[in-house]
Amino acid sequence: MTIFAKILRGEIPSHIIYEDEHVFSFLDIMPLSRGHTLVIPREPAVTLDKLSEAAAAALGRALPRIARAVLAATGATAFNVLQNNGELAHQAVMHVHFHIIPKYEDGTGLGIGWGAKKLEDGAALAAAIVAKL
Ligand code: 5GP
Repeated sequence: MTIFAKILRGEIPSHIIYEDEHVFSFLDIMPLSRGHTLVIPREPAVTLDKLSEAAAAALGRALPRIARAVLAATGATAFNVLQNNGELAHQAVMHVHFHIIPKYEDGTGLGIGWGAKKLEDGAALAAAIVAKL
């Protein structure tokens, strides 16, 4: 069982921000910046691609509302939403979660390394992905 499953069951305390039938939200215990909030489904999916439509829709509804509240409470005007899937992509807790991370003028918040490269095979790649939808 993951640490988030234990938080959902109330076995580990958390600072609760929001909850409904599908969604639970609480403060990150090791925040990158003030107001760093986690938003998770109650459904125990490990990664985003495994999530049910109902849980995904509920997360989509809740995220903007929670983000607005984080901004209003902290005074931040910018934020990143981060969602890691798989150890290789820095996922530490194997239960789907979205990070809402306020970014402040002093630079605190999410630091991003963005090693962008030129798109080489766009048409073939897009077609391959579209074929799998
Ligand atoms: P990941 O790297 O998996 O995307 O991020 C996991 C996040 O969960 C981290 O930011 C970490 O601080 C947070 N976290 C891990 N354990 C706990 C916990 O017991 N309580 C809370 N509130 N957050 C946790």
